Amino acid sequence: MALRIDLHTHSDRSDGMLSPQQLVALAAARQVALLALTDHDTLSGCEPARAACAAAGIDFVAGVELSSQWREREIHVVGLRVDLADAGLRSHCEAVLQRRRQRIEAMAQRLSRAGLPGAELAARALRSPSPTRMHLARALCSLALCNSSEQAFQRWLQRGRPGYVPALWPELAAAVQRIVDAGGIAVLAHPHRYRLSAGAQRELVAAFKQAGGEAIEVSLAGMAQRDAERAASLARRFGLAGSVGSDFHEPDLPWRPLGRFAKLPDLVTPIAARLVP
Ligand code: MN
Ligand code: MN
Ligand code: MN
Repeated sequence: MALRIDLHTHSDRSDGMLSPQQLVALAAARQVALLALTDHDTLSGCEPARAACAAAGIDFVAGVELSSQWREREIHVVGLRVDLADAGLRSHCEAVLQRRRQRIEAMAQRLSRAGLPGAELAARALRSPSPTRMHLARALCSLALCNSSEQAFQRWLQRGRPGYVPALWPELAAAVQRIVDAGGIAVLAHPHRYRLSAGAQRELVAAFKQAGGEAIEVSLAGMAQRDAERAASLARRFGLAGSVGSDFHEPDLPWRPLGRFAKLPDLVTPIAARLVP
């Protein structure tokens, strides 16, 4: 059996549902041999995940998923094998977390003006060290104000809805540079999710490479074959390695199972080869 590798996962240190230890236990049960934890804009789960992986015999990669912007779009950059002690990366994350908290508070105020219990929603969302709109969605559900997080986004949280406040992320090039400066490998996350034309997608990948990016996700759980082929062709065209992951958040979302995804397309260099100790 081929080594099972997962280089994109989330714990409850950002918007995942499992603690780092629970995530590692699930990865062990799924026979994952190489695991990266890549929480949104925080490194805080990496030490406990590393310890749990050591106990479970899993090779661990310290990671992060940085939110950034490029041409007013939100672009995610995964950093792999980053130095957890790097001061530049740590202060970058802290500044982004501060902005995340401010955004949640601003969104909660808007929800209050729309007649919802904004203070309570904010208090619940802000329990997370890296609060996201998903936390507001879950708070709306747990107060029985919505039936599902999809409905919460559609009614209240997405662009054009009453609770929406735009995010202000660091520039793409700055996020890539932080990862590179922390000794990490910058990976362009889920290129198929940005709703870009083929031409704009190439321009994004060119800008990413120019900034120091080294890899692109070419195989993610639930990725359509056509999207995987397009990502693989971008990898070849720009000389980027390929990365694979589940973007795991929670056990009961069947389309993002931990450690299960299509195999790497032919002719793409796997980034995982550089991560095995
Ligand atoms: Mn997420
Ligand atoms: Mn992402
Ligand atoms: Mn992710």
